[in-house]
Amino acid sequence: RVKQDRSNYYEFYTEELTLAAQRQFTLENELRFALRRSEFELYYQPQVDLKKNKVVAVEALIRWNHPTNGIIEPLSFLSVAKECELMANIDLWVIQQACLQAVEWEEQGINFGRVAVNLSLCVLMQADLMSNVLSFLKATACAAHLLEFEVQEDVLSDDSAVVRANLINMSKLGVRLAIDDFGTGRSSLNNMKRVHVDKIKIAQDFIRHAHVDPIEKAIIKSIVSLGDNLGIDVVAEGTETDIQVDYVSDMGCHLVQGFHISKPMRKAKATFFLRCRR
Ligand code: C2E
Ligand code: MG
Ligand code: MG
Ligand code: MG
Repeated sequence: RVKQDRSNYYEFYTEELTLAAQRQFTLENELRFALRRSEFELYYQPQVDLKKNKVVAVEALIRWNHPTNGIIEPLSFLSVAKECELMANIDLWVIQQACLQAVEWEEQGINFGRVAVNLSLCVLMQADLMSNVLSFLKATACAAHLLEFEVQEDVLSDDSAVVRANLINMSKLGVRLAIDDFGTGRSSLNNMKRVHVDKIKIAQDFIRHAHVDPIEKAIIKSIVSLGDNLGIDVVAEGTETDIQVDYVSDMGCHLVQGFHISKPMRKAKATFFLRCRR
């Protein structure tokens, strides 16, 4: 009996695995066609300077309007894009859309600062990234300073010469560079010397309980003074409450991005938001 139970369990287990693997496989295949089928959409979340009461940037965050599963959030599908080329193609599409959006808002006289785009290591490993970005900028008549690229710390510590060259050339071009989720990745401060960094985004992990947690408080204080000493911007990510906003502001961090100001919005809503803040 025991033996039989075990074999049943085994069968059940493999069946479950196969189902999970199948779902993964299907999703990956669908993802491959999602670009062609125009199923991606960018949402936009503002970054605000509390002192000047002004929007300094708008981060583009991708969503997948899946034909049967509804809206899928990036963390659920970007991990499925195992093929680096697929991931890179998605990022290239986002850059292109960001250029179009920046020009559109600018033509409407809307203040948005710049459009921030998240870049994966996959796209930064492409030797022709620069020429692609250049041709997007040219085709859309978008100025480089209207774009900001966000990369995670792990990307900065990547030893690849191509990645390094891409980051350096991009900032020579005038595109700003932000380090995303600062403090959570594998990196050393030495990376700050390798490429020109314009902005540090303090990961939400350090914001959440900062007002009650002395360690989080110390971390925020240190990042803010690192930013001050380097003369670069520091943004608090994921500020959700008045308490958190007041708290980071008291510690000298005047740039915030979080649900407290707004969740990421679809294009029309974001445009309305920006217009009303003028
Ligand atoms: P991220 O770049 O750190 O983006 C911030 C994430 O935090 C967004 O999640 C945003 O919706 C969420 N967020 C902002 N404010 C708050 C808040 O107050 N509370 C909470 N709980 N969350 C907040 P989202 O849109 O789900 O994106 C997750 C991650 O997926 C992004 O993290 C980024 O790493 C990646 N991602 C998003 N779009 C793209 C893309 O176009 N390309 C690439 N390569 N990665 C992307
Ligand atoms: Mg989310
Ligand atoms: Mg980001
Ligand atoms: Mg982040």
